[in-house]
Amino acid sequence: CGIVGYVGGKSAQDVVIEGLRRLEYRGYDSAGIALIDGDRVVSDKRAGKLANLEKAIADQPLPAATTGIGHTRWATHGAPNDANAHPHLGQERQVAVVHNGILENFVALRAELEAEGIDMLSETDTEVAAHLLEREVRAGHDLTEAMQRVCRRLEGAFTLVAVDAKDPSRVVAARRNSPLVVGLGEGENFLGSDVAAFIEHTREAMELDQDQVVTITRDGVSVTGFDGSPAEGRRYHVDWDLSA
Ligand code: GLU
Repeated sequence: CGIVGYVGGKSAQDVVIEGLRRLEYRGYDSAGIALIDGDRVVSDKRAGKLANLEKAIADQPLPAATTGIGHTRWATHGAPNDANAHPHLGQERQVAVVHNGILENFVALRAELEAEGIDMLSETDTEVAAHLLEREVRAGHDLTEAMQRVCRRLEGAFTLVAVDAKDPSRVVAARRNSPLVVGLGEGENFLGSDVAAFIEHTREAMELDQDQVVTITRDGVSVTGFDGSPAEGRRYHVDWDLSA
């Protein structure tokens, strides 16, 4: 139900956990995080309150990781347990993805992936997106192209946010009938289900249209359609205060 993405110069772990706390008001049953540490994905996810996740990661701080994603889940497919919590990873643990919404054609996609020998580790609709994205990245597409290619195959409503362990410079997201905003910083950029996720860091935001993919790096934001055609987000200033 809540999504956070970050790339910049700060501890992604701190920014993501803080962002998830700001999104707690949306309601959720589980929480999780994925960071890029060197060239691997480090991920943890727990059923229950964000405090459970914080406790689980307290003894393994990764302050040097500056690229990360986080999620609070409101289960639609699969019980609210650790295995079904997000992020979901590809089989090679190279790509991690978080998702809000419902992937309506996941049964057919899961059958296709299982026929290729992929073992599903969860009961979620989301996990297929992790395997599809990882397959595209390992075939040589960058994560932005991979997201465009995968989104063209997905039906339903979704916000997806993904990282690739081999490319810590970017976080890539997509939306269709599901919320996603970009937070524009200096030497850092943010993604969130709403501006509460990053308002402590920046009040400059960017709104996207439906069926768009956005790529954030430390120094830039680029937007395309699912077909890869260039697009532009609408920038705006957030001038209201949070009563949190
Ligand atoms: N459908 C996904 C799941 O059940 C995402 C739910 C959500 O929006 O948090 O895991």
